[in-house]
Amino acid sequence: MNRLELTGRADTHVTHFPDPQCVLHTHVAAPFLALRQAALADGFDVVPQSGFRDFARQLAIWNGKFSGERPMYGASGEPLQAARLSPSDRIDAILIWSALPGASRHHWGTDVDLIDRSATPPGYRVALQAEEFAPGGPYAALGEWLKAHAARFGFFRPYRGVASGVASEPWHFSFAPVAENARRALTLGVLREAIEAAPLLGKEQVLDRLEELHSRYVVAIDWP
Ligand SMILES: [Zn+2]
Repeated sequence: MNRLELTGRADTHVTHFPDPQCVLHTHVAAPFLALRQAALADGFDVVPQSGFRDFARQLAIWNGKFSGERPMYGASGEPLQAARLSPSDRIDAILIWSALPGASRHHWGTDVDLIDRSATPPGYRVALQAEEFAPGGPYAALGEWLKAHAARFGFFRPYRGVASGVASEPWHFSFAPVAENARRALTLGVLREAIEAAPLLGKEQVLDRLEELHSRYVVAIDWP
């Protein structure tokens, strides 16, 4: 992946797939479909709720939360008021649940948020929250299945709430062979270039803290 692909400012590394509908890195589609086939055989209709996401989309999420137009939540899911937080505190709060534009693993097309389409009634609104994967939640069984089988297909969970600054995301899986190359290629300099060029709210504070943010949210992940 080149600098633009690594930061979601190009989509030349991804392909649109019709069934299930998703956008993934060209080399991640086959391993994902193999995982999906095995899951289907065990009764799970695994689909990506989210795959590739570009820089512009991540920027809209970031700016919406920073400005208070979008809801923002703390580590335990409690609502936060952007206006009551300093710019630096806002940055920390956003980063609990959302990536800095340019630093999202979803830019690579290697990472997917997985759900079991057969586990909920039609019209169910997926929240991607811990309760859905906890015992009694609609995706608890899928979570167990993935824990046992995802690694066989090259997928692992980079956000388990241990080393990474990101909160535990039991739905977020990453195809290690491609993602690991991307993680190493997304250096501080590559990220800085993307941030400097963007109309990002809080940009001055982000650039002041970029080394820390890069090591906490890009370099640090939870290993398989
Ligand atoms: Zn995700």
